[in-house]
Amino acid sequence: MTAPIRENLSGLDLRAEIDRLRKDRNAVILAHYYQKPEIQDLADFVGDSLELSRKAADTDADVIAFCGVKFMAETAKILSPEKIVVLPDMDAGCSLEDSCPPEQFKRFRAEHPDHIALTYINCSAAVKALSDIIVTSSSAETIISQIPESQPIIFGPDRHLGGYLNRKFGREMLLWPGVCIVHEAFSETELLKLKAQHPEAPVAAHPECPPHIIDHADYVGSTSGILQFAKNFPGDTLIVATEPHIIHQMEKALPEKTFIGAPGADGNCNCNICPYMALNTMEKLYLALRDLQPRIEMDEELRLAARKSLDRMLEMASGTVGKGDLGRA
Ligand code: SF4
Repeated sequence: MTAPIRENLSGLDLRAEIDRLRKDRNAVILAHYYQKPEIQDLADFVGDSLELSRKAADTDADVIAFCGVKFMAETAKILSPEKIVVLPDMDAGCSLEDSCPPEQFKRFRAEHPDHIALTYINCSAAVKALSDIIVTSSSAETIISQIPESQPIIFGPDRHLGGYLNRKFGREMLLWPGVCIVHEAFSETELLKLKAQHPEAPVAAHPECPPHIIDHADYVGSTSGILQFAKNFPGDTLIVATEPHIIHQMEKALPEKTFIGAPGADGNCNCNICPYMALNTMEKLYLALRDLQPRIEMDEELRLAARKSLDRMLEMASGTVGKGDLGRA
């Protein structure tokens, strides 16, 4: 687990110090929706991983402090090589990234030479570099709909997102067997009990959830999509099946509505809080801005290879690639 902080920071006004360093360093602070509320509240931008990296690339900041997990900070570095990118805790990983070591992925690709690799953004830069097209949960459907049905596809590393897309589009993509430990932990039994208590409340679920949760959802979409659904649905109570810290943004934007996190196995566990995201703290953010460490460093050849599959996604998500342009990168 992560190294303990050895300095005594108890006398510091961390919020004021972070604000001072943000100015001194010309830094932009990004927070993913799954961060603690105190971090979301001080960030310059709160959002999903790709949206944050793109916003940071558009600023004239010299430093990006990414309060999220490592693959997200790597994505920021891929898009902004000239900027210093710090991650408050370098142990903030992801079970999906861990499930897909680049060497194994490379072998799997070699075993299926006629398949293109469509890869969820929750993976390492090395796996991005081995992929043809990256997708996010918000761009995946637009991108798959542009790939001819005759083109075989490997989809990794999230088998639940891949399975959801297979069912929705009638495809038979080969699925890498990774899962998000957070979305995997929702309990169908407890969800049905909660629905019985709130029969009018719709369920909004992230496609990283397993099918037995998706089957009970009224809306399935990315974090940004779920937030949008929360704003638009006509009722006053919503059951939310994704990491519960996103509810902070919903409560801020819609104080008149009620948002209930979908339950885990015993109905009341904290198993749906992402343990990796939770590693980032105010103390570690302060130290990262002060010391400009831990820092994302990336070999330029790797960065350019990973950038190619990300660019492919951006082009396809905006509809600028024709079907004839698809194929192995
Ligand atoms: S919530 Fe799941 S997918 Fe997101 S960072 Fe945590 S483990 Fe990875």
